[in-house]
Amino acid sequence: MNIALIAHDSKKELMVQFCIAYCGVLSRHNLCGTGTTGKLVSEATGLHIVQFLSGEHGGDQQIASRIACNEIDLLLFFRDPINPAATEPNDADLLRLCDVHNIPVATNIATAEVLIHGLERGDLDWRNIVNPTR
Ligand code: PGA
Repeated sequence: MNIALIAHDSKKELMVQFCIAYCGVLSRHNLCGTGTTGKLVSEATGLHIVQFLSGEHGGDQQIASRIACNEIDLLLFFRDPINPAATEPNDADLLRLCDVHNIPVATNIATAEVLIHGLERGDLDWRNIVNPTR
């Protein structure tokens, strides 16, 4: 599965801790992320992560375009619901695209844990049946 990681600044440490905790599961999949998020997670875990541009330079839009092309199977997007910076990725656009393409998406760690356990059990494999081109 192709998994994309994005974390707003105030959630980056949470994303790092999450990826450390689930490093074993994540290591069995293809990972990509916005620039800073990908770099921090990669440095902390040793996981190989394709690092797109930083969010403020359009990395979120690079991920959005891959979602639109059905190249992302799962999005973990830890957003700051209280004080997101003006330069941080716009969640509405990404979430809309996930809904259009039926991409499982977590915007907080509680949902991310549910999805990662589902991923571990193979529950997300239904996407291969719905979209056999994957
Ligand atoms: P970053 O992008 O991982 O490059 O910081 C996300 C963000 O801008 O919040």
